[in-house]
Amino acid sequence: MRVIEQLVSQALKEIQTEQPGLFHEPEIERYGVFATMDEAIDASEAAQKKLLLEKISKRQEYVDVIRKTALKRENLELLSRLAVEETGIGNYEHKLRKNTLAAEKTPGTEDLITDALTGDGGITITEYCPFGVIGAITPTTNPTETIINNSISMIAGGNTVVFSPHPRAKKVSQMLVKMLNKALAEAGAPANLITMVEEPSIENTNKMIGNPKIRLLVATGGPAIVSLVLSSGKKAIGAGAGNPPVVVDETADIEKAAKDIIDGCSFDNNVPCIAEKEVFAVDSICDYLIHNMKLNGGFEITDMEMVKKLVELVTTDKGGPKTSFVGKSAKYILEQMGINADHNIKVIIMEVPKEHLLVREELMMPILPIVRAADVDTAIEYAYEAEQGNRHTAVMHSKNVEKLSKMAKLLETTIFVKNAPSYAGMGAGGEGHTSFTIAGPTGEGLTSARSFCRKRRCLLSDAFSIR
Ligand code: NAD
Repeated sequence: MRVIEQLVSQALKEIQTEQPGLFHEPEIERYGVFATMDEAIDASEAAQKKLLLEKISKRQEYVDVIRKTALKRENLELLSRLAVEETGIGNYEHKLRKNTLAAEKTPGTEDLITDALTGDGGITITEYCPFGVIGAITPTTNPTETIINNSISMIAGGNTVVFSPHPRAKKVSQMLVKMLNKALAEAGAPANLITMVEEPSIENTNKMIGNPKIRLLVATGGPAIVSLVLSSGKKAIGAGAGNPPVVVDETADIEKAAKDIIDGCSFDNNVPCIAEKEVFAVDSICDYLIHNMKLNGGFEITDMEMVKKLVELVTTDKGGPKTSFVGKSAKYILEQMGINADHNIKVIIMEVPKEHLLVREELMMPILPIVRAADVDTAIEYAYEAEQGNRHTAVMHSKNVEKLSKMAKLLETTIFVKNAPSYAGMGAGGEGHTSFTIAGPTGEGLTSARSFCRKRRCLLSDAFSIR
């Protein structure tokens, strides 16, 4: 902890000494971090009024400033290191990749497409317009990635944003909010486009939810926070939990499937909500799949007593994940069991029945249960059960188009990845933009600027149709 405090205080000093002039203006001095939630919201409201009157090209400039600031090597390294140190979750190298992805592949203002209708009656356009001040709740698992991603999308949409980060990611979130506001201030943007409170807490989140100046709530997290915002009486976007299953059938390229599954499952120590959480493999290829997983960094536990010991170690009495093991490496988990694993070990694998707790629970650790199924249809059925109606993410390795379509249709997940690691579904290796707020429950999907906008109609009667 002391290391984090030293780094934060050193970096804040650097921000302050680099631009001493800026500190004559108390408003900018805070760089978006306020003592109370009401102050953070009031400042955000004032900023949004200014942003609303600016040109779209200005918004795009601000988006580019956010990208550039987050991608500056020293910032990227500092944020990624602090995120791991403060939350105790994930892997530094992978945080670098995730922060880079958020900064590079979150769409900007080009996402705001105008619909136009013309005819004898004139012209009618429908445009994506800002909600105003957005209250965004962010998770411990992607603290900085979500702030970068949401800030770009929301500001591109003409909104300002008040963040309510997880208290365990307070310092790194503050660091990022200050960093972005400082860079935005230097670029001439209105102060406080992005704000938060000094002490994030459940109480402060509730104040944010209840404040009438917040026009839209966006929750990225587990079931509790998603149902809280959805029952707020306000427009809310919920990006909730997943438990992504993987199906591998006999037509798949098994060597590639094994490598893809290990790579996806071990990415940032399995904390992404889209990461592979359990595998259903057709019996005829299951042994070969496991063999190839072991060649790619899988550590197999075959003794069921050891599996029991592992479950006791990493889960609570209620069956959920122990916070102290969320986002830890396979090597670390094995060491706590007295097993000395080498650095190539990425994922702990084991064969279990489909009802096993490791299959049902979203643990967010590189522990991957494998269930044998008689055939592909049975594997798809098991996957459907394991996904538990989250409709979040699913993966399939197969060359059988009919069965690929069957699984995609049955599971109805927001992301369905075929023949790749799960992260390809969020733009890392696959086509398409990225998002760290994947809104399954409320249907926006991989959110972007337009997800945070209101549709408004504007028309001119009897003119401007040139057909
Ligand atoms: P979490 O639900 O514990 O916390 C998420 C946020 O909600 C935090 O800011 C937390 O402080 C707040 N929160 C939680 N309960 C609250 C309550 N009762 N009142 C007020 N605030 C509350 O989740 P986490 O451990 O930080 O993140 C992991 C979870 O988020 C996983 O379930 C994962 O699948 C999900 N997630 C989903 C997405 C997505 O895009 N769908 C992205 C990342 C994470």
